[in-house]
Amino acid sequence: MTSDNSTPDWEQYARWDKHHVWHAFTQMRDYNPLIIESANGCILKDIDGNELIDGVSSVWCNVHGHCHPRINAAITTQLNQVAHVTSLGMSTPASIELARRLAEITPSGLEHTFFSGDGASSVEVGLKMAFQYWHQRENPKPQKNTYIALGSAYHGDTLGSVSVGGVARFHEMFEPLLFKVIRVENPSTYRLPEGVTEENLTQYYLEQLEATLAAHHEQVAAMIVEPLVQGAAGLVMQPAGYLRGVRDLTRKYGVLLIADEVAVGFGRTGTMFACDQEEISPDILCLGKGITGGYLAMSATVATTEIWNAFLGAGKKTFYHGHTYAGNPLAAAAALASLNIFEEENTLNNVAKQSQLLSALLADQVAEHPLVGDIRQRGLIAAIELVADKEHKTPLDPSLATGTKVCLAAREKGVWLRPLRDTLVIMPPLSISGEQVTQIVNALEYGLKQL
Ligand SMILES: *Cc1c(COP(=O)(O)O)cnc(C)c1O
Repeated sequence: MTSDNSTPDWEQYARWDKHHVWHAFTQMRDYNPLIIESANGCILKDIDGNELIDGVSSVWCNVHGHCHPRINAAITTQLNQVAHVTSLGMSTPASIELARRLAEITPSGLEHTFFSGDGASSVEVGLKMAFQYWHQRENPKPQKNTYIALGSAYHGDTLGSVSVGGVARFHEMFEPLLFKVIRVENPSTYRLPEGVTEENLTQYYLEQLEATLAAHHEQVAAMIVEPLVQGAAGLVMQPAGYLRGVRDLTRKYGVLLIADEVAVGFGRTGTMFACDQEEISPDILCLGKGITGGYLAMSATVATTEIWNAFLGAGKKTFYHGHTYAGNPLAAAAALASLNIFEEENTLNNVAKQSQLLSALLADQVAEHPLVGDIRQRGLIAAIELVADKEHKTPLDPSLATGTKVCLAAREKGVWLRPLRDTLVIMPPLSISGEQVTQIVNALEYGLKQL
């Protein structure tokens, strides 16, 4: 490809984008470029100057809005000191401070942070840590070499995280490459099993889990869950008490609990961590997406001292795992700034306020639509599930791409949304204003009316 010095126009960028950039989770034959030149607060601006509200936080990671002056300043200051050094045998003040802050704010007992670069890696790390822990702790149990995972789970796209994942359309293809896990039915507050009511829902799933644990606990190193909300499954939400019960049962049967808070961590559900709502501490906590406020690639796996201690000792006890950019100081500086902003801007208050408004507007403007089967919400995660038949909760024919059509229409009204098939997702930055929440719901209502 030759290049001259003139700035390419939209047509050129679009052509190159469609040919040279292989986009994630995208059918490139059908890809329609949307090219963002800048962003500020909750607004994205494309290269033609069109403005769009970032209604899904750039896929669930932006927290305080784009181009936040304090995060920008923190990155710039760090950049003038050092952009990167390895975490193999050395450290930086930024990554040290971040690990210490994480120990402070995460559920009690989690003290030791292993940094990586993305959510999938934080899950790989958690899985490997749990496995190795059983091999080398005092009173080892090396036969504990499998995992329990939920149906429709999503934990990222590397082969270990795909193995514990259970979304058929993402994971089916790779089946021959995956290790076996024990899968339990995932709870849902919308589609209840035969004979189960809202009152005994939690109990039903916990009894099932207990039977599985009773039968297999001697082989199980850890159970992994997305606490409160299973994201890519379609924002499937767990009934109250479920997570608490999972913690009690895993403890009772001597199985580690890995909480994958890559999507729900950092204020998204209304508390700093989803585990806080059920007052539980996992043995291993996976963090990603919002950790840097949505600015830079970083993830973290935070472990208890019980696990940490099993890795102290000579040679072979070492955790042989690492990523070149782990603990990157620019990302750590952004993460520290983001944590400060939670306090300075009282972010969790805004989440409470805007999630109430969102819930009221959805009930008012969207719930009555004939295709809206369910509206469910936790903090600033709202899901509007479209169905062919409300009474029987029959899914729509996926080839109609109904969810995508609604989101494309919402774009005409200045709102960018990306659905999970026919579940519409509203997950704006936590700094969203009431006016913008209103604009998002109006755009969605408009999109539904166009069907
Ligand atoms: C997004 C996500 C991941 C994967 O994170 P990446 O940074 O995309 O690798 C893992 N777990 C959950 C729950 C997620 O939502």
